[in-house]
Amino acid sequence: MHYRPLGRTGLNVSVLSYGASPLGGVFRDTDESEGIRTVHTALDLGINFLDVSPYYGLTKAESVLGKALKDIRRDRYYLATKVGQYGDGVFDFSAVRVTRSLDESCARLGVDYVDLLQCHDIEFADLDQIVNETLPALVQLRSAGRIGHIGITGLPLRVFPAVLDRAGPGVVDTILSFCRYELNDTALDSLIPYLQQRGVGIINASPTGMGLLTARGVPSWHPAPPAMLAGARRAVEYCQSVGADIVKLAIQFAVSHPAIATTLVGSANPANIRKNIAYTEEPVDFELMAKVLELLKPIRNHNFTRGRPENRDEIVA
Ligand code: NAD
Repeated sequence: MHYRPLGRTGLNVSVLSYGASPLGGVFRDTDESEGIRTVHTALDLGINFLDVSPYYGLTKAESVLGKALKDIRRDRYYLATKVGQYGDGVFDFSAVRVTRSLDESCARLGVDYVDLLQCHDIEFADLDQIVNETLPALVQLRSAGRIGHIGITGLPLRVFPAVLDRAGPGVVDTILSFCRYELNDTALDSLIPYLQQRGVGIINASPTGMGLLTARGVPSWHPAPPAMLAGARRAVEYCQSVGADIVKLAIQFAVSHPAIATTLVGSANPANIRKNIAYTEEPVDFELMAKVLELLKPIRNHNFTRGRPENRDEIVA
């Protein structure tokens, strides 16, 4: 496993990291003990950054992750969770709620400190509230030593500069972008010089596009439009026809960007996380990669958007 610095946080994070949303049964019904074994496998094989949220499985993912971490030394991993999103369409970014949220998450996770606390999916929020109320509350928690660092997450890329331009320097330590740096979409790339200039750590999530680039395909709630699903399917089927695993290419593609500190992949299957970690070290089949990128060209950088109208990217397929 290779490690990269996460902006100016001082955290040296594994290039592939563990996203715990599947522990909440977000993609399929999962077996708790398998989920716990997946976390242990990830840590044993060098992953040192774990990401979760109270939203995943409506607190279930945090509870299962807490069980997995029960007997693990606290200095073996960096832990990130989130505030502000508590159910489908249920958001509360008030100072009171996010402060209580940290206590609730710590209780479920069995820790008294998280390394990174992130405002979850700010495209659904009033960004004035994020800048003027939520972030100041998180700064207080950081000053009090309750959290190490502060992050923001979202799908539309425009929300990141919209907040970073207005929050004071050093307020936001990291951004988490998902589905915008993967085989079919590299839009995050255009924002990287801006983020680097500000010393903001870059976390990329969902290298398979939340199941889009897997043989199983997407869960029913997946927001990709039909043309995007069909375009991705062509690439998945091509890889199957030549006996290759598209997940391998997807992971190798995501972790190869030197300015992206880490890429979060989700799994509740120990064998899959083991494979995913091995993929980061195996040689890249550049010929196959080129062929797959070519196949994905018709849908390249066409993605779904969401959030309040003023926060959406102009990119719908
Ligand atoms: P992902 O692209 O990592 O895909 C996960 C899916 O791929 C699951 O269905 C999993 O079973 C499958 N998979 C993983 N490895 C596989 C393998 N080797 N073979 C076959 N299938 C495999 O998407 P994700 O889980 O949504 O994203 C990763 C993590 O990033 C999340 O768990 C979460 O922690 C984080 N994330 C955060 C946000 C946010 O903050 N807004 C959004 C998306 C993701």
